[in-house]
Amino acid sequence: MDIINILPDSVANQIAAGEVVDRPAGAVKELLENAMDAGATQIDLVVKDAGRTLIQVVDNGSGMSDSDARICFERHATSKIHRADDLFDIHTMGFRGEALASIAAIAQVELRTRLHGSELGTTVVIEGSHIVSQQPTACPTGTSLSVKNLFFNVPARRNFLKKDSVELSHIEEVFRRVSLIHYDLGFTFTSNGKTLYDLKSGTLLQRITGLYGTAYKERMYAVEEQTDLVRIKGFVSRPEFSRRTRGEQYLFVNGRYIKHPLLSAAVEKAYGDLLPDHCYPSYFIGLEVDPSRIDVNIHPTKTEVKFVDEHALFAILRSAVKRSLGQFSLATELSFDTPEEFNIAPAPKDYMPPQPKISYNPGYNPFRASSSQNRIKFEEPDYTTQPETPALPEYQPETRRLQSITNSCIQVQNRYIVTPLSSGLAIIDQQRAHERILFDRISNSEYRIQNSQALLFPVNCTFSAADAEMLGELIPDLKQYGFEIAALNQTTFVVTATPADLKDSDLQPLLEQLLNDYKASTLQKFNNRNKSLSASLARQMAVKAGTALEQEQMQQLVADLFACPMADTAPSGKKIITIVKPEELLK
Ligand code: ADP
Ligand code: MG
Repeated sequence: MDIINILPDSVANQIAAGEVVDRPAGAVKELLENAMDAGATQIDLVVKDAGRTLIQVVDNGSGMSDSDARICFERHATSKIHRADDLFDIHTMGFRGEALASIAAIAQVELRTRLHGSELGTTVVIEGSHIVSQQPTACPTGTSLSVKNLFFNVPARRNFLKKDSVELSHIEEVFRRVSLIHYDLGFTFTSNGKTLYDLKSGTLLQRITGLYGTAYKERMYAVEEQTDLVRIKGFVSRPEFSRRTRGEQYLFVNGRYIKHPLLSAAVEKAYGDLLPDHCYPSYFIGLEVDPSRIDVNIHPTKTEVKFVDEHALFAILRSAVKRSLGQFSLATELSFDTPEEFNIAPAPKDYMPPQPKISYNPGYNPFRASSSQNRIKFEEPDYTTQPETPALPEYQPETRRLQSITNSCIQVQNRYIVTPLSSGLAIIDQQRAHERILFDRISNSEYRIQNSQALLFPVNCTFSAADAEMLGELIPDLKQYGFEIAALNQTTFVVTATPADLKDSDLQPLLEQLLNDYKASTLQKFNNRNKSLSASLARQMAVKAGTALEQEQMQQLVADLFACPMADTAPSGKKIITIVKPEELLK
């Protein structure tokens, strides 16, 4: 007896629908993509009850002929590819001709469409794969597709749907993924009669702010790159606006949202130590690559993609983001290319600015009265050892006056340094600034080694067994920083030399803090011994908030800070500088 049946199309379509449309958001994605493939410039999404009762997408695209309006619901009905070769050069979002067949198998669908140039359009009603009616209709050009009562004939699926709020957030996510990268198109999104988004065509940045709020304008740096392999255009969050979750991370390839762990890692790696602990950047990055360099054998509803050149893309993307972070953190806001009258005479060619030396009293208590003698002291730089002392700018009453304006600093609350720049008024957090300067200096191995100083009286320090073991392990690393440490017994060590900058500090608490910071950093993602030790030492050595600074100390600090490539972010990822723009000053 023969037992094999061929499944009727309606059943086959229902099965296929399980893959394409697992929930309302799946149908939304397909309909939005069809509208874009049809060349629409305005796309309106309407849902009721999180898409359970209604999903409607209205577009002003090409529209369909009367017979296409019927045939589009057949399985494998597509206008987007004709032969297998076309698979290697796909420029549309869809191409498998499955979406409408699937949706029509599990819902009541009404399609109204009119071709450009036709007098009349057509309305097709189809329910569970069966065409109910088709009539000529007067309607605008383009297409309106309504999906009513999704899963009306598949109760099992219907029962699997989550609360409306959950389904709606899935739909919103689809809407964001599609509308973000198609910022040249207008989109609206209406849910239960309420317009949630009304996005006009514009730039990527405008689209980001349209979706996430205008505050994002100040939070993002632009990333741009063009090579033979790829064109990159996007925005990444400034380090201080990173988030505790990986939420807003969007990568797109050729107008399609993708997930790609390697490329995501490229973006995060570019931040290096700029990110605060356990924080992730937000990013919105579009890549354009030759479609033939992408594996086409990917499922259209899946977001995974394979690139032929993924390692090259990794390197290009990482360096593009890195450059943007470095360049913007300094160049745009802190530019010293002052207006004419603010010009400072350049230093002579061979003049190397002296490294400031800082000594401080670690026992200093800023809250104790009469502590002025405990203020931190910056030693006078030793000009005599320089090959040539810098020539003083020629005295000219006018420039002289303005120059002193440029250079002068005010300390506010013994905590902030305020100084004028060409781009406005800079407010600098003195502690974070100093942390950045010290961090940059001591993470540079050449500097570290030269800066060891033997102690007149070696100091003994004692630790718990666990800490002692860790310290023992770190001795060779700490030597790189100028520490000479040797174990006396299981728990006691003798310190015979320290980094010069540390000469007067209390070593026991300092080393304890160093070990604690190191322990904490080993739990982190981008654990790096050198960075962790440098960061801990920089933090401990930095001049603290609450310390009064002299004019020259502030000027030195500001000059040193602006010489750092990442001058606006502390090693901890915290913001160092805020610029009050001239417009804001005017107010
Ligand atoms: P695919 O997008 O993979 O081709 P679909 O089932 O999504 O398959 O759509 C089938 C066909 O219906 C498309 O190839 C296209 O020709 C036509 N179509 C679907 N939606 C629209 C629309 N909004 N405007 C114009 N044509 C459309
Ligand atoms: Mg499609």
